[in-house]
Amino acid sequence: MGRRQTMMEKYKMQMKAYRKKRMQQDNTPFLPIDGNVYVMDTLDATKKLKAEVLKKSTKQHREIIESLACPICANPMEWDSKWEAFICVKHGKKAIYELVDQD
Ligand SMILES: [Zn+2]
Repeated sequence: MGRRQTMMEKYKMQMKAYRKKRMQQDNTPFLPIDGNVYVMDTLDATKKLKAEVLKKSTKQHREIIESLACPICANPMEWDSKWEAFICVKHGKKAIYELVDQD
């Protein structure tokens, strides 16, 4: 055996790397190329709403949404990486907006 890793150790390390990579990918709210941002209220997932980008930044040559106006009350919302969504608490019930594709 010696310096060889056990299968379990190897698996654990792979999973750790995979999760880290996945989180980095999924966690960033990239701005679509055409600039149109659509969100869906996770508690009312039937409606797709267009949201206005208030602030953006650039990371690795891609644009990221820093702040988005709430489609209901226009309150500026910041990205919440725990929820992987933009959250508004200003218009009554807490709203969790996930980014969705345009079509
Ligand atoms: Zn709101």
